[in-house]
Amino acid sequence: MKRRHFVGGLAAAATLSGCAKETANCADGGASQETFEWSCVTSWPPRFPGLGMAPENLAERVEAASAGRLKIKVYGGGEIVPAFEVFDAVSRGTVEMGHGASYYHKGKVDAAQFFTSIPFGMTNLELNGWLYYGGGMELWRELYEPFNLVPIPTGNTGVQMGGWFNKEINSVDDLKGLKMRIPGLGGEVLRRAGGTPVTLPGAEIFTALQTGSIDATEWVGPYNDASFGLHKAARYYYYPGWQEPGPGLETIIHKAAWESLPSDLQALLTTTCQAITADMAAEYTHGNATSLRQLKEDKNIEIRPFPAEVIALLRSIAADVVNELMATDPAAEKIGRAYFDYLRLASETSRISEKAYLDSREF
Ligand code: CA
Repeated sequence: MKRRHFVGGLAAAATLSGCAKETANCADGGASQETFEWSCVTSWPPRFPGLGMAPENLAERVEAASAGRLKIKVYGGGEIVPAFEVFDAVSRGTVEMGHGASYYHKGKVDAAQFFTSIPFGMTNLELNGWLYYGGGMELWRELYEPFNLVPIPTGNTGVQMGGWFNKEINSVDDLKGLKMRIPGLGGEVLRRAGGTPVTLPGAEIFTALQTGSIDATEWVGPYNDASFGLHKAARYYYYPGWQEPGPGLETIIHKAAWESLPSDLQALLTTTCQAITADMAAEYTHGNATSLRQLKEDKNIEIRPFPAEVIALLRSIAADVVNELMATDPAAEKIGRAYFDYLRLASETSRISEKAYLDSREF
């Protein structure tokens, strides 16, 4: 609990007296001048491109826009809290804030997986439509309420890649016995297709693939995969990332810390999280494009689509896996129903807009 600094009374008094002399900086009139110093733990390697930079960028922007009233110190996974214990640390109030992905809470709050990504589910644009305008956020807040957590969407990687393989996937039989790093629901789908899913933290993937202790791995996409050097450890790069078609990331805030913020800082934080989501889409669009160009020039790599029969099998198994998840608890059923109702609704437009347009153009 020693890192909690909800109230900065002395700093507030000093800032207020400064305000009297510089009225130009006091346009907000009655806004509280209390200062807040928070810690944010994350599931990412420190300052990792995209994923790890999101909370760093968030902290920097919030501090600048609040004139130092809300300072957030960001920690990489394992620095003060293990990468996969962010949820518990923020829920307990050990730290004020965390950044990660809600599907890491599988086993604690299974229904949370719908807010990151579902195999063959929503894209980035569809997920944000559901969260911000289609009732998704209300369900998410309700789900986290018993854990003393306030969720705020913060980033999305877009459609991922299927992954790096040292075995060719020419038919569904090639999935049998395949040892692959693939977490969550996607891993369960692979298991039922005859493979052996493995869960490894990002930092251990390269060595596992290079030494042959796994045959394949998914991670994110060209931008992040190249930064791990995965192209130096495998020959075949398959697409698309059916397992994670537009995973959304989350900021979670301990309820008492959230409620201690004056309303203008709450608004600043939520608005900045939304800005980070837009910014991450731009960063990944650019990073993936430039990294893919480089990968294409590497003669040791073949970039391939999964065969249609493989995708068809995985899609059919994924439906079973998600239906079983929804049958396991009432929250998963309620959120899952809302998720698929929205996916059916949004996909009618996606099909005749994004998909039709991309298929129609020359580039
Ligand atoms: Ca992934």
